[in-house]
Amino acid sequence: MSSRRNLVRVAVPVPLADAFDYLVAAGDALPPVGTRVRVPFGRGERIGLVVEHPAKTDVAPARLKTIGAVLDTTPALGAELMASLRWAAEYYHHPVGAVLSHALPGPLREGRAIDEPPEPSWQLTALGRTVDVAGLPRTARQQARALRALRERALAASELEAEDVAATALARLAAKGWIEPGPPLPQPELEPARGQPSREPDLTPDQRTVLEDFARARNAKGFRAYLLHGVTGSGKTEIYLRLIAAELAAGRQTLLLVPEIGLTPQLVRRLRERFGEELAVLHSAVTERQRFDAWRRAYRGGAKLVVGTRSAVFAPLPSAGLIIVDEEHDASFKQQSGFRYSARDLAVVRAQRLDVPVVLGSATPSLETFNNALQGRYVRLALPRRIGSAGAPRVRVVDLNLHASRQALSTPLVAAIGQHLTAGHQVLLFLNRRGFAPALFCPQCKSTEQCRRCDARMTVHARAGAVRCHHCGAERALQWACGACGVERIAVGAGTQRVGEELAALFPAARIARLDRDSTSRKGALDMVLSDVETGNVEILVGTQMLTKGHDFPRVTLVGVLNADQGLFGTDPRSHERLAQTILQVAGRAGRAELPGEVLIQTHHPGHPLLTSVIDGDYTAFATLALNERREASWPPFAHLALWHAEAARRDSAFAFLEHVRAAADAERGSVAVLGPAPLAMERKGGQYRAQLLFRSAERAPLHRLVGRTLLALRGSAAARRARWSIDIDPLEI
Ligand code: ADP
Ligand code: ZN
Repeated sequence: MSSRRNLVRVAVPVPLADAFDYLVAAGDALPPVGTRVRVPFGRGERIGLVVEHPAKTDVAPARLKTIGAVLDTTPALGAELMASLRWAAEYYHHPVGAVLSHALPGPLREGRAIDEPPEPSWQLTALGRTVDVAGLPRTARQQARALRALRERALAASELEAEDVAATALARLAAKGWIEPGPPLPQPELEPARGQPSREPDLTPDQRTVLEDFARARNAKGFRAYLLHGVTGSGKTEIYLRLIAAELAAGRQTLLLVPEIGLTPQLVRRLRERFGEELAVLHSAVTERQRFDAWRRAYRGGAKLVVGTRSAVFAPLPSAGLIIVDEEHDASFKQQSGFRYSARDLAVVRAQRLDVPVVLGSATPSLETFNNALQGRYVRLALPRRIGSAGAPRVRVVDLNLHASRQALSTPLVAAIGQHLTAGHQVLLFLNRRGFAPALFCPQCKSTEQCRRCDARMTVHARAGAVRCHHCGAERALQWACGACGVERIAVGAGTQRVGEELAALFPAARIARLDRDSTSRKGALDMVLSDVETGNVEILVGTQMLTKGHDFPRVTLVGVLNADQGLFGTDPRSHERLAQTILQVAGRAGRAELPGEVLIQTHHPGHPLLTSVIDGDYTAFATLALNERREASWPPFAHLALWHAEAARRDSAFAFLEHVRAAADAERGSVAVLGPAPLAMERKGGQYRAQLLFRSAERAPLHRLVGRTLLALRGSAAARRARWSIDIDPLEI
């Protein structure tokens, strides 16, 4: 071991690794923690981040290598972010290099400079505007595409790239004098808002109380976690806007995390109207280059409001004042592959380190958050009433044992749809199943069309003339004749597509749209559907989970839940929580303004206690009951979980790995329970057999110690090489 003062410890994004020690060349200053450096690694070179300045190293002097170029003049990741990320790497048991690099925008991972000039744009020249695009040779397809796109507006190079226009095509167009470089473009969300800017409304008494309670608890500046529990339509967004405005006035930044920006254009519009230039949007729909520009505005502190989805939790916040997580219960905040973090939980961790308040908002808070508020760890702020004069929607259950239904539409629901349409209002129908029908069944040999690579049925997509597996994406041509006996088969059950067709037959005059992944896969299609509902161009909207996301459509008065039973009898300990959240959220789309709303829930189990509390619209009653069940069964939040997942082409390999984990853990498990291994409910997916093993512990510390030790024991094990595996801390799905 040698002791020196010219050492840096560098985290490099490689699997299964800690950080590595390097020398800094004699006479060079030590690059600060959070700085990107190029380092020799294996036979090549990597970009890593300085995590420490160690006083000594275990590496033999002859083997110590020297760092290459230092890429940042000021650290790419600030002190708080570095600390939070290192904490996350430890907590989620994920390699620190991978975690740090995850937090960097793509261009920085590739070694580009933080202060490189903003991306140039391209625009048509006067000559370019006269070109007959249709007359271009077929070999110049990219050039034609570029010219057509540029007729609409100037575009950033990365936007043209996203349209499959290569740099060479642009160079040719420029050489012909048809296009020329233009000034850098503003971020799309910074373009002036169209239409009337909305006036700041007078606060309701409830809203005023919430803001007063917040201010009182906030005690100057400092960390504190709040649950903003407001029923749907109670004006939570207006609370966010006021809190953000207060931070802005104080010159501080706010980070606002939302589940899916594409689904809530109304929210972005409201933010843009109120905060204009101060806004930076970070999410996956903008191009990587635009995201980089937004990241840099946050990094320099120019963007005072940073809005984004899950990964925006890693945004730089040099002058942070507040963090808000909207719809904190939403599953999209948990990353389900690779670095399996919870953005909601990391938001709280960052707020703690930044010493600023964090507000978690929801009408249907996760049981974890709800319990934290019950225990007094979080301050509960409540908005118990709706804003409009309409009040809470009336909820009715349709007992499917008593009423006939066709394509998932019962007679009472059809009657209700008719009444609401006649009144000139809009209807939303929720069905968590896309496609035409979930099964293709042969009445002769009783067989159902199966996916060849998954333990799952193929879904019929009648309009596309295909059957598709919704788990692995496999697709085959739809053949009505049974392959085994030649008999004409039947499409059983209904998905959104089939319900849409049935509605068209029942209500030929009504304009009907679908909102699911199939109907919105084309670019711009999602915006189109949402704006059609907003402007009243659509009277009936049939959709999946996408319907549940915070939409505010004032003329929707009827919401139908076509099948509440999916999830009533799930094996996952969270399935009830998820179902209650889904039903209450979708029900919350009814009667949001002045028109009273009605909700019909179709079920075969009308007496189920979950449905009874949901019918009363009482999430608190549901959550209290559900928490008691969780306590009795020792599930979160009354226990902590770590889930080992393994998959392999051979069933044995997945199990052998988990048995190995079990054996490695058993000797030292102490108070931690080790459950499994067990196959997943759908064992085979995409040709891989899947199994899992669960660690459960009443205390966090022994759980994390055991995971850490087990991971060490797995290093170099042969079983670990024969399966693809991962460890998931605080898993959402079990
Ligand atoms: P939530 O997020 O709680 O579901 P929103 O914030 O979307 O509810 O508010 C529901 C509706 O009430 C929106 O149309 C919003 O513009 C309106 N609203 C909110 N606060 C007020 C207020 N103080 N006065 C009038 N309208 C309001
Ligand atoms: Zn499949």
